[in-house]
Amino acid sequence: MTRQADLVVLGGGSGGYSAAIRARELGLSVLLVEEDRLGGTCLHRGCIPTKALLHTAEVADSVRAGASVGVQASLGGIDVAGMHRYKDGVVGKLYQGLQGLLAAHGAEVMAGRGQLVGPGEVRVGDEVLRGEHIVLATGSSPRSVPGIEIGGRVLTSDEALTLDYVPDDAIVLGGGVIGIEFASIWASLGAQVTVLEALDRLLPAEDEFSSKQLARALRKRKITAKTGVRVSDVKQDDDVVTVTLENGTTLEAEVLLVAVGRAPNTSELRAVEVRNGFVAVDDRLRTTLPGVYAVGDIVAGLQLAHRGFQQGIFVAEQIAGLEPAPIDEAGIPRVTYSHPEVASVGYTEAAAKERFGSAASVVYDLAGNGRSQILGTAGAVKVVTGDNGRVLGVHLVGDRVGELIGEAQILVNTGARVEEVARFVHAHPTQGEALGEALLVAAGKPLHTHA
Ligand code: NAD
Repeated sequence: MTRQADLVVLGGGSGGYSAAIRARELGLSVLLVEEDRLGGTCLHRGCIPTKALLHTAEVADSVRAGASVGVQASLGGIDVAGMHRYKDGVVGKLYQGLQGLLAAHGAEVMAGRGQLVGPGEVRVGDEVLRGEHIVLATGSSPRSVPGIEIGGRVLTSDEALTLDYVPDDAIVLGGGVIGIEFASIWASLGAQVTVLEALDRLLPAEDEFSSKQLARALRKRKITAKTGVRVSDVKQDDDVVTVTLENGTTLEAEVLLVAVGRAPNTSELRAVEVRNGFVAVDDRLRTTLPGVYAVGDIVAGLQLAHRGFQQGIFVAEQIAGLEPAPIDEAGIPRVTYSHPEVASVGYTEAAAKERFGSAASVVYDLAGNGRSQILGTAGAVKVVTGDNGRVLGVHLVGDRVGELIGEAQILVNTGARVEEVARFVHAHPTQGEALGEALLVAAGKPLHTHA
């Protein structure tokens, strides 16, 4: 049987479903193929369930901190089944909402695994789908490193999310976003955690300032982080995983989480060119086949749901004949939701210096911010500026500072200059004032800072 639509979307995750919704808004007929559940990694195995676990972790920490704010409370333990019920409840509600949303927009959703056959043609089992345009949005899967097999006590984030016990101790391989978020969750739930990172600092894609702030905070939380280390061997038996490092050190733990990146799902996309594992696209997300576009984690760059949303909208608008401006990848905000959070937008100081020849920066410590002191949050704000005073990057470390990234990204995405935006009035007392104060410092008129 053959089915036909203006647009066929392969994959119903963040990138795919946003392309489908925007295309429907613009009057195109849409057929979306999904082999699992609408919402993809972000909703079912990524952003949403991990942030739910991080919230449970935060509540546990708050109970422990009760005495410091005059609340008598004690942590009786973690009800792991209750934690998963809460997490699954959040995911379930959002999943139901998303299914309703797609239906309300009139996007047809087809269950099955699609394969791109050529321009305008996708196959699902023995059905042929013909689309004048095709959007590939097949996402990514956790990857491992050669010699480390996933299974038993060796987990990826997929298994870690549904683990039905809190390990006494855990080793986390990879000090990137997933590694740091799970290290934070497990430590708050009571585990001894050791993070092993191959490069010389945690969150190596972030500004060095953020890595240092985070490392200090994790040390205070008794999370061990070993950087510049390589694993040479992993063995497991019924009770324990043994990890041997290249320097001969051995470490043991109840579980090992492998969080060394995610591999694009391209096995059904052989008809387009794939370069270094990612689908090759131009700056308008066009693949090497006419009428075929790619969005989300299969496109090289930041593997983030909100990038996928924007790419989906961008591609749908293009297909509908609008001429949207290409997405500025440097302006995409990034948040690691650990305790403390690490958030950033724009250039790191090092990247700004490399790109523009020179850059300046200021740092404002949350120790001077009233709301942060009330909340018992340590951290700092760093603003990177160019020669002309343009805000090129903002880097934030501290609990809940991820919520400030919205303001920071407007500064970066609109090319704001410090002297203009240092005039903005921030409500007192808010954590947002810390960003305001950093801008005052950058503009040479600090209020709550003394040189
Ligand atoms: P990542 O690229 O963020 O981090 C992987 C880390 O593992 C890097 O620091 C890398 O240097 C290290 N590494 C690689 N090989 C290693 C080895 N053999 N030994 C030790 N360390 C090694 O990848 P991730 O944390 O797996 O996350 C995957 C993707 O999912 C990322 O693109 C991330 O941005 C995204 N994600 C985002 C969020 C968020 O936005 N909050 C949360 C989770 C995941």
